[in-house]
Amino acid sequence: MYEDILVPTDGSTGASAALGEAIELAAQFDATVHSLYVVDVASVGAEAGTVDLVESFERMGEDATEAAATRARDADVEATGSVATGSPHRAILDYVDDQGIDLVVMGTHGRTGLERYLLGSVTEKVVRTADVPVLTVRADEEDGAESDEAADDDAGDERT
Ligand code: ATP
Ligand code: MN
Repeated sequence: MYEDILVPTDGSTGASAALGEAIELAAQFDATVHSLYVVDVASVGAEAGTVDLVESFERMGEDATEAAATRARDADVEATGSVATGSPHRAILDYVDDQGIDLVVMGTHGRTGLERYLLGSVTEKVVRTADVPVLTVRADEEDGAESDEAADDDAGDERT
């Protein structure tokens, strides 16, 4: 049913929780998990010295998506990681089209927003405009540490 599942990540606990769901779904459907980090160039700005800043965000994105792909592969799920540049929701929608993604799994919230909003702005725009289903995942408030979550997944215990 699902062959290519996209998990946009900004390195937040919300994105990490989304990855956990995506890995479980991908294992069920024998699907590939695609991790994508978007360097938000508008938020970086266009002043002198921003090339360095963009590069450091790119490196952070490579680390985050590689870690996500490793977590998926540890669960015997095929995975890829990539970094794009631009406005996050547009880059996510472009990736959906270009790679034939059939499900997006993302956090209700991310790194930069306020919990009191129902949805982060990137997720809201993707939910509103994507042509494929979007599954949103809320990070467990008590489950802040990403490494704890990864450890839980490594144990491979059933949660039902
Ligand atoms: P806001 O950015 O609106 O102030 P927020 O940071 O809480 O609030 P979003 O940015 O919408 O909310 O983050 C929600 C989800 O969107 C994240 O969990 C992640 O899955 C995805 N996401 C956000 N930013 C990026 C990004 N730069 N690259 C890839 N995915 C992203
Ligand atoms: Mn954000």
